[in-house]
Amino acid sequence: MTATPYPRLLAPLDLGFVTLPNRVLMGSMHTGLEERGDWERVATYYAERATGGAALIVTGGMAPNIEGAVFPGAAGLHTDEDIANHRFVTDRVHDAGGRIAMQILHAGRYAYGKDCVSASAIKAPIAPFVPRELDEAGIEKQIADFATAAVRAREAGYDGVEVMGSEGYFINQFLCLHTNRRTDRWGGSYENRMRLAVEVVRRVREAVGPDFILIYRISLLDLVPNGQKWEEIVRLARAIEAAGATILNTGIGWHEARIPTIATSVPRRAFTWVTKKLMGAVDIPVITSNRINTPEVAEAVLAEGCADMVSMARPFLADAEFVRKAAEGRADEIAPCIACNQACLDHTFQGKISTCLVNPRAGHETELTYPPAENPKTIAVVGAGPAGLMAALVAAQRGHSVTLYERDDRLGGQLNMARVIPGKEEFHGLVEWFERMVRRAGVEVRLKTEASAEALRDFDEVIVATGVSPRDPQIPGQDGPNVLSYVEVLRGGAPVGARVAIVGAGGIGFDVAEFLTHEGESPTLHLEEWKREWGVTDPEDAPGGLAQPAPPPPARAVTLLQRKAERPGKRLGKTTGWIHRASLAARGVKMLGGVGYVGIGPAGITIATENGEDLVEADTIVLCAGQESQRDLADALANHGKRVHVIGGADVAAELDAKRAIDQGARLAASL
Ligand code: NAP
Ligand code: SF4
Repeated sequence: MTATPYPRLLAPLDLGFVTLPNRVLMGSMHTGLEERGDWERVATYYAERATGGAALIVTGGMAPNIEGAVFPGAAGLHTDEDIANHRFVTDRVHDAGGRIAMQILHAGRYAYGKDCVSASAIKAPIAPFVPRELDEAGIEKQIADFATAAVRAREAGYDGVEVMGSEGYFINQFLCLHTNRRTDRWGGSYENRMRLAVEVVRRVREAVGPDFILIYRISLLDLVPNGQKWEEIVRLARAIEAAGATILNTGIGWHEARIPTIATSVPRRAFTWVTKKLMGAVDIPVITSNRINTPEVAEAVLAEGCADMVSMARPFLADAEFVRKAAEGRADEIAPCIACNQACLDHTFQGKISTCLVNPRAGHETELTYPPAENPKTIAVVGAGPAGLMAALVAAQRGHSVTLYERDDRLGGQLNMARVIPGKEEFHGLVEWFERMVRRAGVEVRLKTEASAEALRDFDEVIVATGVSPRDPQIPGQDGPNVLSYVEVLRGGAPVGARVAIVGAGGIGFDVAEFLTHEGESPTLHLEEWKREWGVTDPEDAPGGLAQPAPPPPARAVTLLQRKAERPGKRLGKTTGWIHRASLAARGVKMLGGVGYVGIGPAGITIATENGEDLVEADTIVLCAGQESQRDLADALANHGKRVHVIGGADVAAELDAKRAIDQGARLAASL
């Protein structure tokens, strides 16, 4: 047997009273499942991840009381019935050989409720309610509620709890002058501000006894003004250790911080250097986190002494078997989390169940399954974009005989455009994973092959995933030599002038603007450059790790245009749209909404605004006006009387994204 390439990742971790089998923590993610009361589904979700090898799972945040709930009705352990429901989940995780800790999350001023409480009555910029400033009795109640929640967690069979002390939540709000203006023993000096955090840990430990895992999630980088100084953080870490914590987990950035911390444009393992600073300052194990999504990266982080253990949350949505595959020498089969947030965090903020763009089964384990096909069929899939690839993969894994036709000379479809955008490098890994997996599943791949209706006649099932083509905006003058489609820019490498006007400010208009304002290698691949661009520094040099952002000069002068009178980029992802807008603003991109297109000439594009006509001077005009379904083949097959399944952009082009395409492909293939 060959030695594993991940010896540190797969090494056990002795916590004194319990030994974890490896160094992988499945970090906390809100799923939205608990609130729906379908406990079978909650249990299956976690049990699959325990089977997949996570050493310790941390649940989504559970409120210790009503005032601390992230939103009204958020799950918590308030009643005996709650305890019984959670017991059902912990039993299933234990049966699967895993361990699970419950996160206690008090949202403080981030709570979406008028009864929210905090250190001081200062409203958060991302929440609608001014919190009530707690008095002494109120603070004591919150601490007692933390301890009670931990005791209930123990009764419910959990192996431990994680006290959420970072990300700008309740405890973090006491720690920082940004939100704590108190003058009593809970405010002012750092000793006073850290009293709540230490007291919560002390009282939780006292309440649960010694042999119960107590993780404290410590904010190592607040990334807000008046954040904690490094010496304060070290002092807190030591006090938390003395108060009885078993493990320290890393938290990075408050939710209101204007610096991305987990988005796909954040470099991989962007913050492990901060955790490394804490190594040696305490004797308990330290966990690092954020943008670690492969076993290679995790192993390197441990090898470099940045942490004792690694936390990954979203990668366990993308692939429940992350650890098992790494241990079995199948790391290249791990479905990669591309850090897009599209199906996980964006769903959370929309009140939907968290799932995963690359793994539509996540959160849907009881309902979407891929059992072996009872009657294996011959299936043709036409089009190897995300919809076609997923349909081909799932169908082949179920035992069907699948032939995949692709007109292009490579697989990936629209994903091949996403992968060239600076900040979207993770898409490379996704396309490569699909390539590997469809071939391993036995799919017969026919590249550079246009499938005719005639050639498809004899297949039992035909899946049409022929995708989209760019919409023709029919602007007078668009046939000029200075006009390009986004496809010519992103795929064809067409030369683009120094001044650019982009028609259409959807996801692709934004992507093209990002592409055209960058020069050289993407900052996502250069941590120090990325930190400079966003203003991240060592918390030893500046409180909270906040520096003046210094974005590089833009490679081109870009104007982004749209007809809708709303703010351009408003419809981008809930948790990532602000990053795209901020990134382009930092690169001087002008964004104009509410315009009409009068015509294009050699000097640029003339637009109509409420003040009359105006020329946007540009050397190149790039058309990003959305897309239309490519249905020629589907129509031809229908004319031949052949029943076909149409999925992805070929089905509905509007607001198409890879999430919908992959989900549709998976569900169709699961049903055949
Ligand atoms: P889109 O998001 O639908 O945007 C199309 C843009 O074209 C809109 O700004 C629209 O604004 C404009 N438009 C529509 N019809 C037009 C016409 N006849 N003449 C001129 N302008 C017109 O489509 P997309 O940008 O092509 O992106 C396709 C999909 O890919 C998106 O829905 C998105 O989900 C996905 N995607 C997502 C991301 C991401 O960051 N998450 C990135 C890239 C792509 P007006 O009608 O107001 O002018
Ligand atoms: Fe990762 Fe995107 Fe899946 Fe979320 S939806 S887990 S970010 S791949």
